[in-house]
Amino acid sequence: MAIVIVGAGLAGGTAATELREHGYDGRVVLIGAEEHPPYERPPLSKGYLLGNDPLDVAFVHPREWYADHDVELRLGVRATAVDVSARVVRTTAGEESFDALLLATGAEPRRLALAEETGVPTAYLRTIEDSDRLKAAFGAGRRIVIVGAGWIGLEAAAAARAAGSDVTVFETAELPLLRVLGPTVAGMFAGLHREHGVDLRLGTSVTAADLAAADLVVAGVGVSPRVELASEAGLAVEDGVLVDARLRTSSPSVFAVGDIANHDHPVLGRRIRVEHWDTAINQAKVAAHNLAGGDELYEAMPYFFTDQYDLGMEYVGHGGADDEVVVHGDLEGRVFRAFWMREGRVVAAMHANDWDATDDLRAAVASGELPTG
Ligand SMILES: Cc1cc2nc3c(=O)[nH]c(=O)nc-3n(C[C@H](O)[C@H](O)[C@H](O)COP(=O)(O)OP(=O)(O)OC[C@H]3O[C@@H](n4cnc5c(N)ncnc54)[C@H](O)[C@@H]3O)c2cc1C
Repeated sequence: MAIVIVGAGLAGGTAATELREHGYDGRVVLIGAEEHPPYERPPLSKGYLLGNDPLDVAFVHPREWYADHDVELRLGVRATAVDVSARVVRTTAGEESFDALLLATGAEPRRLALAEETGVPTAYLRTIEDSDRLKAAFGAGRRIVIVGAGWIGLEAAAAARAAGSDVTVFETAELPLLRVLGPTVAGMFAGLHREHGVDLRLGTSVTAADLAAADLVVAGVGVSPRVELASEAGLAVEDGVLVDARLRTSSPSVFAVGDIANHDHPVLGRRIRVEHWDTAINQAKVAAHNLAGGDELYEAMPYFFTDQYDLGMEYVGHGGADDEVVVHGDLEGRVFRAFWMREGRVVAAMHANDWDATDDLRAAVASGELPTG
């Protein structure tokens, strides 16, 4: 039996690992458009971009692991079409037959046409090469304009400031991360960046004139799931590839995980598509079992983390900007736990700089009960 994985990113690499670690001994073919073996992206906007960590920390395994574990790694190869009924993937290097297929094609940055049209050097942050480009551009006195105060924009801003750049961030919302975190915690992030010298322009649509004097514009305006293969193959697609609670697409022999998967979450009782590291890893593990004939549900709550300056945070659950937020601890001092409440129940929780909190936060989200402060 042959399992083909399209997309050699974190999810694809993790699925191949899980198959081998759990004794699957059929063929595993891992097809990746990039020249690098699977790697994690968080260091690209944190330790690696800051110059604190070597690139090695990002790789899922050293390159030789794949041959040593009989994983047929095809790098620099793009899958161009999937024929679901013939069970064949066509690629730029030929074709691969499969018994079961995993799609893990991830997401790509949305382009910022305004910046590209002005002719100012414009960068995105998704790949190792992107991170290298930013690292080379950041430095004392460099004028860096960042468009979008989401996770990528804020982490890039922190790295640019650490390198001594002059940093201006434009964001159309009234606060950074407002849509994800709501005003209480989003306000904390605004204060954090202003204290570190970022010129944060909120509630502002960037114009060509704002970009004109920049040495580099970094566009962090979100990503789009790469769904073309799936939709052209006739699979059901709607804001990502639709998968059931077991991560199976509308075709029984095809699964999808990671940034592209719009998952029917059995605990939340609704569909969510999550663009986070933890989801890529843990969905890949469940899908690997199901690809090899298992029958597992994916039930984990979304989890993510960020590091910016001296602030580290972890978040678990699925809150929204309209939920009531209860804070335990010192919001101003940035050592606290926060709980997102909906109809009297905890739906999400995070901590800032309180690293013993993680298990308690997970328990609060699982039970729905607000801990005593
Ligand atoms: C700079 C950065 C920092 C981040 N930091 C955090 C963080 O702190 N915390 C957190 O939770 N999450 C973070 N994330 C998000 C996290 O990295 C993603 O959720 C994760 O990478 C998703 O994994 P994936 O395997 O689904 O997709 P990807 O990592 O995008 O991998 C997909 C791979 O598939 C390949 N591919 C696509 N189409 C084809 C094709 N047709 N044929 C062959 N190959 C193809 C792509 O080239 C790519 O290599 C960060 C992301 C970035 C970019």
